[in-house]
Amino acid sequence: MTHADIMKAAGLTEADITGGTLAVRSPIDGAVVAHVKETDPAEMPAIIARANAAFKAWRTVPAPRRGELVRLLGEELRAAKAELGALVTLEAGKITSEGLGEVQEMIDICDFAVGLSRQIYGLTIASERPGHRMMETWHPMGTCGIISAFNFPVAVWSWNAALALVAGDPVIWKPSEKTPLTAIATHRIMERALARFGDAPEGLSQLVIGGPAIGEALVNSKDVPIISATGSTRMGGIVGPKVAARWGRPILELGGNNAMIVAPSADLDMAVRAIVFSAVGTAGQRCTTLRRLIAHHSIKDDLVAKLAKAYASLPIGDPRKEGTLIGPLVDHASRDRMMAQIAKARAEGGKVHGGEVAAGVEGGAYVSPALIEMPAQTDTVREETFAPILYVLGYETLDEAIHLQNDVPQGLSSCIFTLNMREAETFLSAAGSDCGIANVNIGPSGAEIGGAFGGEKETGGGRESGSDAWKGYMRRQTNTVNYSAQLPLAQGVKFDF
Ligand code: NAD
Repeated sequence: MTHADIMKAAGLTEADITGGTLAVRSPIDGAVVAHVKETDPAEMPAIIARANAAFKAWRTVPAPRRGELVRLLGEELRAAKAELGALVTLEAGKITSEGLGEVQEMIDICDFAVGLSRQIYGLTIASERPGHRMMETWHPMGTCGIISAFNFPVAVWSWNAALALVAGDPVIWKPSEKTPLTAIATHRIMERALARFGDAPEGLSQLVIGGPAIGEALVNSKDVPIISATGSTRMGGIVGPKVAARWGRPILELGGNNAMIVAPSADLDMAVRAIVFSAVGTAGQRCTTLRRLIAHHSIKDDLVAKLAKAYASLPIGDPRKEGTLIGPLVDHASRDRMMAQIAKARAEGGKVHGGEVAAGVEGGAYVSPALIEMPAQTDTVREETFAPILYVLGYETLDEAIHLQNDVPQGLSSCIFTLNMREAETFLSAAGSDCGIANVNIGPSGAEIGGAFGGEKETGGGRESGSDAWKGYMRRQTNTVNYSAQLPLAQGVKFDF
């Protein structure tokens, strides 16, 4: 199929892809595939006002009924999976199965949110006063602005939107300026769900297109109480304080620098499979990509040899082609950054395997993944480079390995490969990994939607997706009801008059 066929099959019209100021390139061959119209910043106040008008109606719709909208969204996504997955491949450069996997993730979170819509619950709490009942109620919070990154161009919207909509919040989505096409196609799918739902308020789900300036209009508006922003730590460092300064609620999902500790007892064959998928999958462009390998000195050389062999056999190239495992980087600037970081690591004493410009489709930025043995955890290792670079470090004691794992500014995902129960439990304990995600005998990437997703430190502290992440989209109210004929005060205070 041609690029034009893929866009058409995903429901994009000529008007969607022509006549605009935002040029969209496919990472596959670097070709400009569309010129998309950008939202005029002057329109943002009206867009936000529409969302807030929708909020007034949506917040009183019973949550299970709100869940019905998300159920329909899941149905529409199932029907459109192949076409939307192919568009993700076209616009983000993911291999076919990962493009489809991203849409599957959207379907999964819809299923989760539908169940949640019948399970939004609060506590009842024992009151110290006779004839009193204390409880906790969760209410809708208000409009949720969603700012998303290029590398999960559609799933991140659904993680937020599915929960926000059942929680009673309207959503305004600003996708990455690198991936507006998948956003337009997704929003069209949402519009089909809304049409089938029937009586949802106008403005419940809106899409705005553009760069940071459009994002900032959401970030700076007092009328957007929740800002869920996914992207680089640099972006989060700007957005977080601005939202906090106007008393909004930020949900920040920022960069990671994820590590795996490989202990002497580890099943090395399993570790190799996990390392390769998590270090080179999505061409190293996942927030949870494995970036640091902390291997026990006794097995390090063996592990590096096995990895270098596996790396040499990985098919790199056209992500649409069956069998390809490593597609392109998002653009040439990203490849330049990767090459600059490799040069820096080499200057710091790194021994580099791979990490070269690779053949692929003419015009795309293809690379072979890099494996770099480092003498120490240098400044370059402590930075997130959004490309397939895996730094290898050695360790002697588990304490040393855990120290290395934690001694970076980011705190997203982590894991240990060991068959030693003491080591595994220590890694998961309060004295172990400081990340939001810590796994045993599983790589750091490819989380399921059932768990809360997010991380600490410069990863931003936000949580999305499963567990009780829904609470981030609601406001908590403590209620005390007095059903007695007395008016006792708490803490035994007397105030008789
Ligand atoms: P980016 O920070 O360049 O852009 C992300 C989004 O923020 C885009 O929509 C962009 O337009 C917007 N933005 C940028 N500056 C802004 C500003 N000042 N105000 C408002 N909006 C602004 O990130 P990217 O290159 O698209 O994505 C890669 C990064 O995202 C990596 O660091 C990766 O680790 C991170 N990421 C994190 C998660 C997570 O869940 N933790 C998930 C995916 C990606």
